[in-house]
Amino acid sequence: MRKPRGGPGEFGRRLARAQRVASTPGAREPLAVLCAVLGHQGVRASDPTVTAAAALTTAAAEQRRAANRFPLLDLPAAVDQIAAEVPRAADALLAPGGPTVPEPLASAGQQLAGAPDAELQAQTERWLEDPTWVEPRSAFWIGVAAGPILELGAAVATVPPRNEWIGAACPVCGGTAQVSVIAEETGEFMAGSPRSLVCGRCATWWAFARATCVACGEAQPQRLGSYVAEGMPWARIDACNTCHGYVKTFDLRQDGAVDLVPLVEDTATVALDLWASDQGFHRPVRSLAGV
Ligand SMILES: [Zn+2]
Ligand SMILES: [Zn+2]
Repeated sequence: MRKPRGGPGEFGRRLARAQRVASTPGAREPLAVLCAVLGHQGVRASDPTVTAAAALTTAAAEQRRAANRFPLLDLPAAVDQIAAEVPRAADALLAPGGPTVPEPLASAGQQLAGAPDAELQAQTERWLEDPTWVEPRSAFWIGVAAGPILELGAAVATVPPRNEWIGAACPVCGGTAQVSVIAEETGEFMAGSPRSLVCGRCATWWAFARATCVACGEAQPQRLGSYVAEGMPWARIDACNTCHGYVKTFDLRQDGAVDLVPLVEDTATVALDLWASDQGFHRPVRSLAGV
């Protein structure tokens, strides 16, 4: 089985793609931040304390899967290390000469990095429980800090097939879908399950029903709309008229999609988010550009 493009632990592949599209009009600033995030995460992913924390999260993953216990990663085991990574992430991204991290994101990072350990750990625990329980700008920094640990854990976890997991939450870490993907029919990933969701926390891809709202589960075709982007036949907004939520879907079967890396494309296509927001739709998980 081929690995999903830019999936768990592939910081280098995502960084290379982000650098290639870095001058996309209207998305330069968020792409510069994304490059800095991925560069930092790639470095941290080879640090022994990070790999040790990742190993702790997966220690019981196979037993959990056998017992139908989700998410598969032991998240509480990673709290201390993730919290310790927050000040490192803030130092790396907010250092002089780094990318221009916009306000108020930058000051949120400084504030969080300077918080007492107990506070940082409590916020990390809340975020692991449900990322929407934490203020979005703080959630961004915890996400940057957690990425290497959760992705290294996810990289060795076995993603359950569709007959074991049909949820809209990530079966590996419990995170929410950042984007949706229609994979190549040649079996890019999980043959027979053309649509996958991609986790915004651990980069796992998991199979999900094709014509179903990711946010509320609406499945009546007349309540769901697909809007293909002009000049980008591989990018579309899948929106729901019941909950007004939407998710971006990248169709890897289309011409010109061969180089796409979905988690990076999400940031490069910020123009689509602006369009969707103008139409009255909102996304359950913010894009990097929307933090
Ligand atoms: Zn996940
Ligand atoms: Zn919906």
